[in-house]
Amino acid sequence: MWLQRDLSMIGRVLLSKADGISRFVYPTLSLSVHQNTCKEINKILINFVWKNKRHHLKKEILAGSRAEGGVELLDFGDLNYTFKIKWIKECLKAPNSLWYFIPVNVFEKMGGLQFLLLCDYNVTKLPQKLAKFHQQTLTAAKLCFVHNFSPHKTIIWNNEYITRQNKSLYLQKWMDKNIIYLSDIQSETGQLLSYEEFLKSQLFPVTFKEFQAVTNAVPSGILQLSKCYYEHQTPKKLEFTFCIQGIDIKNKRCSNKHIRKYFWTLPHKFVINNKIREVHFKILHNIYPTNSYISHFVNISTACEFCKSEEEDIKHLFFECCHTKLFWRKMELYFANKTTHTIKLELKAIILDYMNNNQEIQYIVNLFILIVKFHIHKSKFSKTLPSFESFNIEVDNYVKSIRLQNKKSQLTIRLYEEIFN
Ligand SMILES: [Zn+2]
Repeated sequence: MWLQRDLSMIGRVLLSKADGISRFVYPTLSLSVHQNTCKEINKILINFVWKNKRHHLKKEILAGSRAEGGVELLDFGDLNYTFKIKWIKECLKAPNSLWYFIPVNVFEKMGGLQFLLLCDYNVTKLPQKLAKFHQQTLTAAKLCFVHNFSPHKTIIWNNEYITRQNKSLYLQKWMDKNIIYLSDIQSETGQLLSYEEFLKSQLFPVTFKEFQAVTNAVPSGILQLSKCYYEHQTPKKLEFTFCIQGIDIKNKRCSNKHIRKYFWTLPHKFVINNKIREVHFKILHNIYPTNSYISHFVNISTACEFCKSEEEDIKHLFFECCHTKLFWRKMELYFANKTTHTIKLELKAIILDYMNNNQEIQYIVNLFILIVKFHIHKSKFSKTLPSFESFNIEVDNYVKSIRLQNKKSQLTIRLYEEIFN
């Protein structure tokens, strides 16, 4: 029914959430949902997003956040997990309620739900056996709560890695004596305490066998890590660094993925309509329907819609074609004439993003590039040539239309007026 409307892909994703998923919500609140069921539901939703036609991107990419180049398509498995988290919240709030009596008792044998959630557990290795529903609940929680890993603050109990016969440990007696972290059984240099040292410092009777059971369960890897931690506790030096969105570019964490994130989020900085974003999105994913891309599926000519001579791929259509090249040159001239800035538009700027030391210029130029790409897209499909004059009118209309909308648009208007006074 909905497919007959002309919705953008982002619109269809929204509908899949509002109209599709909401029907399955009720049963998921109280039952564990089998993986296959999640898969089936996802299949229905994703076919809807692609209008029952060919899928051009993997589901995982669509489901990703905008920062990862996705469109935040809801995955039913994730939604199921969301409800399980909600269950945890309720259970923590009212542990004495009749509803939670049984699970609370089971969790109590592992230090209680609240403590358990702090542990680095693996559902399959927990010392107590759990019902399917609660297993799924804890798995969901583990996915949500990211623990800041620091080796000496590793909780010994219910730990996925600190195991005996592949089961995590939990010893209430030790807990009662406040032995929680790995550091509680380590010396100042990070070595595990000997049995004698332990007895001296803890002053409670533990058999050698029990002590050994715990210390033998600690894998050498974790121990090694925590030793390093003790050795390298030197104060950090201050340095001037080049950061991309808060992460030093020299840092390992500043991976390609992190940098890419920056490009994906670009169109969401502006108040622009989803059809404009969609063009940018498809270009980045290399699924923009150029003639050469479409020719893989349909028997059409690969020749460029504008110049009719060269092959039309993304690079050609948006940058190399004589018609688009002319367009970009006009835009550079326009900036040179109308503002106090000169800009140079290269391939990278057009496909990914434009960088300039002047943040304000960078913002406006990136906005312009997005609108131009949409203009080129429209020209291609209406079989006209891109025209800087009509683009100019479009920008004018755009600025008029976003006036008085929200903060983002206020910023755009202020910059626009400052730069083009
Ligand atoms: Zn061309």
